[in-house]
Amino acid sequence: MAEKPEKLVVDVQVPVDYTYNYRIGPYLEKYIKGLGEKKILGVTCPECNKVPVPPRKICGACNRVLDEWVEVGPAGTVKTTLSATSRSTRDWSRSWTPPSCWR
Ligand SMILES: [Zn+2]
Repeated sequence: MAEKPEKLVVDVQVPVDYTYNYRIGPYLEKYIKGLGEKKILGVTCPECNKVPVPPRKICGACNRVLDEWVEVGPAGTVKTTLSATSRSTRDWSRSWTPPSCWR
């Protein structure tokens, strides 16, 4: 018995639910808990004396492991910022209809 040939699907739009969990790690967890206690925490680099806030495990300037926690004051200098946006070309107000070969 010959198999039925597959139909070619050329245009399929599938809605995706992006619900997911993100593990923040111990450094960011401690930082966020500190914010809840009205404290801003960073970690001091013993090599270059920089204090990244939010804290990181590795110094971005000299690659040293950072583990000396310090509370910093409310003033500081923002060195970098990043903003990202994404625009969907799909009209999300419409309901999704599966392609005819799926029905
Ligand atoms: Zn450093």
